[in-house]
Amino acid sequence: MDQPAALLADIRERIAHAAGVARRQPGEITLVAISKTHPADRIVPLIAAGQRVFGENRVQEAQDKWPALREQHPEIALHLVGQLQSNKADEAVRLFDCIHSLDRPSLLTALAKAMDKAGRQVPCFVQVNIGAEAQKGGCAIADLPAMLAAARGGEVPVIGLMCVPPAGIEPAPFFALLGKLAADNGLAGLSMGMSDDFETAIMLGATHVRVGSALFGTRR
Ligand SMILES: *Cc1c(COP(=O)(O)O)cnc(C)c1O
Repeated sequence: MDQPAALLADIRERIAHAAGVARRQPGEITLVAISKTHPADRIVPLIAAGQRVFGENRVQEAQDKWPALREQHPEIALHLVGQLQSNKADEAVRLFDCIHSLDRPSLLTALAKAMDKAGRQVPCFVQVNIGAEAQKGGCAIADLPAMLAAARGGEVPVIGLMCVPPAGIEPAPFFALLGKLAADNGLAGLSMGMSDDFETAIMLGATHVRVGSALFGTRR
């Protein structure tokens, strides 16, 4: 096996193991390979190894890299995991199959318009500022009910909640809290867990894990 294929096999194995410990099926968990900053020639080997769901954090970078790759592999799903400016909503709706970073009412309005215009509904996760960090994006927990109510009234399909817990401390309590918020609001999707903590996230119910450096190596 070449190195990317071996890394992918290792991550899949760890996902299956964590799922087993939690008495879940590995198929309940979508591995989103976060390819931000990595050029197409690093992505191609993962596609060859069977990976079909990828994530980027910037609209412009995704637009530069992915149309050519997807021409070869139209079955690939592309997810947006980074902050989205409202003025990029049209491009995002055309390019992405899922958006993990819906975090404010103005973006909800912009996405609803863009989806209506494109005649295309893109499933979204509402990103929650789960550690109430001043510098971090995401909807405040207190604002979540209003945000979800507004989404229900419009064009935007919300499938779950997403978080990036505070760095440097045990993430499990934050994952558990996100899971409770999702359950309280009748949402099935949970986008949580990255390279360092995806197994913990799976034990606490993650349906989408976002793994970058463990698949691609460290970013510069
Ligand atoms: C970069 C990024 C990831 C992947 O992080 P790794 O630690 O490299 O696995 C996951 N989620 C978001 C929102 C990111 O920006």
